[in-house]
Amino acid sequence: MQDWSHLFATRSSRMAASEIRELLKLLDRPEMISFAGGIPDPALFPADAFRDAYGELFGSDACRTALQYSVSEGYPPLRQWIADRMAELGIPCSIDNILITSGSQQALDYLGKLFLSPGDTALVGWPTYLGALQAFNAYEPSYDRLLPAANRSAQDYRDTAAENGGAVKFAYCSADFANPTGLTLDLSERERILDLATDLDVAVIEDAAYQSLRYDGEPLPPILALDIARNGGIDNTRTIYCGSFSKTLSPGLRVGWVCAAAPVIQKLVLIKQASDLNSSTINQVVMAGVAERAFDAQVTKIRKAYRARRDCMLDALERNMPDGVTWNRPEGGMFIWLELPASVNSADLLARSIEEAKVAFVPGGAFFPDGTGTNCMRLNFSAPSEEKIEEGIARLGRLISETLSR
Ligand code: PMP
Repeated sequence: MQDWSHLFATRSSRMAASEIRELLKLLDRPEMISFAGGIPDPALFPADAFRDAYGELFGSDACRTALQYSVSEGYPPLRQWIADRMAELGIPCSIDNILITSGSQQALDYLGKLFLSPGDTALVGWPTYLGALQAFNAYEPSYDRLLPAANRSAQDYRDTAAENGGAVKFAYCSADFANPTGLTLDLSERERILDLATDLDVAVIEDAAYQSLRYDGEPLPPILALDIARNGGIDNTRTIYCGSFSKTLSPGLRVGWVCAAAPVIQKLVLIKQASDLNSSTINQVVMAGVAERAFDAQVTKIRKAYRARRDCMLDALERNMPDGVTWNRPEGGMFIWLELPASVNSADLLARSIEEAKVAFVPGGAFFPDGTGTNCMRLNFSAPSEEKIEEGIARLGRLISETLSR
């Protein structure tokens, strides 16, 4: 067999198979209860609204434009709808500040490409979204720890980055209901990240994939809104906001967006041209129609369902987990983060859990750039029904109790 290793570029050495992707294969087995996905419940998709929108499009000649290539920036009516929504979040902007991407995942890749030379440093949460690490890894960065906040000086971050052969280029974070922890940054943490990025003169990448999914508590301004309030207009800001329709309307259409200062958008457009020319025209046209007609009702509907599932999982954890296991109470999103005693390796536990309990979750180690966090696990509550949550947490509780009492 051909040996490819000397032919692949050095960047490929950091592209390892994703634990999440491997796990998703398990969702197909009927007896398995999966808390491993990071996905919406397909039963809640606004399927009728999509059916109507595609139907109407193909019932008219407008389908010809929708079947054609389109501008790299994205379909203007969709960008306008997004710009109007951003204004409601305290981010007044125009369509020149919006780029449509094929999911926000593509935006993370583009931002890695735009900012990171090999050896540069990305500041990330510890843990952080695995897909962001995968996207950035291709650009061969070092990682340093942004969160939980360590109160380090900007100079200290700079020195560490220089030791690793580059400079700090951006701080990446999710302000609302982060993947994998479900945690939300309070106002002072948001301001502190902006302070640090300003001191370092670097970008902030604000991943807002779960922003609409708040179940209780008061909404807080996005970091980009705080940046605008300080600097007097989006084109003076350093924060790059990545949004997505994946968690609200549908991940299958692959429609996300970047909202940022126009010069950043203009560079990203050039990257998009080189990458895929434009995101699916037809999906953008349909998404614009469905967003217009169904977004608010859809968000109301899924918030209600996911809130009940979160509460159901919290309740089941309370009843089934032994002493020594702790977890958080997320105000939104799709995940609960569990910490087991330090002696438990959650990757080993997963192997047994799949075999014996028929329950899947994501082991925490995958989300830490340095392989720590091996006693943690991420549980998803948006995809399984309340019945499955009850049953799955009871099985998992038994397995963990047994493991701890050995
Ligand atoms: N950011 C976060 C935090 C996510 O959890 C995900 C999906 N799991 C994404 C970005 C990418 O989502 P999409 O490309 O579907 O918008």
